Amino acid sequence: MEKILISACLLGNPVRYDGKGKLIEHPLIQQWQEEGRLVSICPEVAGGLPTPRPAAEINQLDGNAVLAKDALVITNDHQDVSQPFIEGAEIALRLAKQHNIEFAILMANSPSCGSGEIYDGTFSGQKKIGDGVTAALLKRNGVRVFDQFQLDELAVKLN
Ligand code: SF4
Repeated sequence: MEKILISACLLGNPVRYDGKGKLIEHPLIQQWQEEGRLVSICPEVAGGLPTPRPAAEINQLDGNAVLAKDALVITNDHQDVSQPFIEGAEIALRLAKQHNIEFAILMANSPSCGSGEIYDGTFSGQKKIGDGVTAALLKRNGVRVFDQFQLDELAVKLN
């Protein structure tokens, strides 16, 4: 049965920057968990960052630019955390490969997990088009990334 990579915070694990989780209560998540499909990871924690931690955003462009060293992930207290974000993305990719994963459910808008739209780097709640660092690396390697609002779309694609 096909496995699915999922952001650990979406299962309620308290790994977010604010020390909380973001449990998503949806029958499909419950079903996939009971079927043993879900493989969870928090890329930022896997990359070595503590919880709680300062909020961080990508300063320009998106996660692809961070991977290319053309942009940085910067905290709201001006620390460069690009390297742990990249390492976390690489660990997430290794995990996906280990489980032959083709699909991921990643938390919307996050500088790691966001897919298609991320916060714009101004810490103002504004968003821009782009992918987080982990979402970008997974997509480049053929993983199809969905967010927590696209579960029905994912369900029709699963074996
Ligand atoms: Fe959730 Fe991803 Fe942020 Fe970890 S890095 S807290 S899994 S959104």
